[in-house]
Amino acid sequence: MNIKLNSNFDQLSENYLFSEINKRVAKYKEYNPNRDIIKLGIGDVTLPLGKNVIEALINASCEMGKKETFRGYPPEYGYNFLKEAILKYYKRFHVDLDLNSVFISDGAKSDLGNIVDIFGDNPIYIPNPVYPVYLDSNRMSGREIYYMVGSENNNFLPLPKDNMKESSIIYLCSPNNPTGSLYNQEELKKWVDFANKNGSLIIYDSAYEAFIDDDKYPHSIYEINGAKDCAIEICSFSKQAGFTGLRCGWTIIPIELESENHKINKLWERRQATKFNGVSYPVQRAAEAALSDEGILECKNNINYYMENAKLLSNLFDEKGIYYTGGKNSPYIWFKCPNGMKSWDFFDYLLENANVVGTPGAGFGTFGEGYFRITSFNTHEKTKEAIERLKKVL
Ligand code: PLP
Repeated sequence: MNIKLNSNFDQLSENYLFSEINKRVAKYKEYNPNRDIIKLGIGDVTLPLGKNVIEALINASCEMGKKETFRGYPPEYGYNFLKEAILKYYKRFHVDLDLNSVFISDGAKSDLGNIVDIFGDNPIYIPNPVYPVYLDSNRMSGREIYYMVGSENNNFLPLPKDNMKESSIIYLCSPNNPTGSLYNQEELKKWVDFANKNGSLIIYDSAYEAFIDDDKYPHSIYEINGAKDCAIEICSFSKQAGFTGLRCGWTIIPIELESENHKINKLWERRQATKFNGVSYPVQRAAEAALSDEGILECKNNINYYMENAKLLSNLFDEKGIYYTGGKNSPYIWFKCPNGMKSWDFFDYLLENANVVGTPGAGFGTFGEGYFRITSFNTHEKTKEAIERLKKVL
């Protein structure tokens, strides 16, 4: 064959983080078959879906089996019943949105990756460290990328800088994966004001907003005045309602967003109508149930379960006086490896000496080197056992 390939793929680094982790764990197990390894690297939910969600899923599936209630292709942008439930959900944060600004997706990752389709060649600003999808999807389309450095100096929350280029696309993730840190109202306002002033667009990933339990922190960027003129928000039912396996999310593109005399919302409609055929009816009904009053309570119970683990883990780092971010309003804890160890060296050290697995910070960007991520998604029992082991080796 002699066809031309997308040479931008040469710019991608090997997607080796989790495969390398699995490889190292498998090797350790081969030589130490009787050791009980505890996984605190899990970035996926572990508790089952709530009763309301399951009932809705079953009922909607039954509807699909009857002539009178069968449904074919769903609307590309989502059923109105789910979009309306999302509008109602945003009212909890005093945010009013237009029905046509809501787009239902099969999860945040797809939209975060696909949104690049509708933009031309703008400078791209991406936090480092961060969830790797922003970087890789922009690399695939050959964009010019600039990093916004996260460090202990800014608690891994980069803020706008005067030397940033005008008319850029800026990615923000709050609460952040992997650092668990999050912007407060004042900090987010700095970003919104900056973007409006220098003609930039913010892509705001709020996949973990449901973990926020403190009014100081906005759940949505639209809680900030002016955000409808400069921000797209991408969110998900994955972590909020345990939909990592069911797959559903949403994207908000305010009608107000305009550039080069085009409504960005219309461009996304056009893109989705061409390349996306919607989310299945039972899944959208399940998502609607997750946003009902009972559904929200049920989801909150699961989140509280994870957050109890996060609290126990944070206590450990407080006791040890180790620098960390997250653990509050976020399922992630990001800490500094002891004795100046590098992320992967610490991974091996922890595996050997505590039989605990986490995620090396270097896997989330160069500025993650020397840091480590653990998560609260394991059981209470396993988390407590891991803490006892960590106490001995940290
Ligand atoms: N955004 C962030 C920050 C994430 O950590 C994840 C998943 O881990 C996603 C988006 C993807 O979510 P979804 O399951 O909705 O595709």
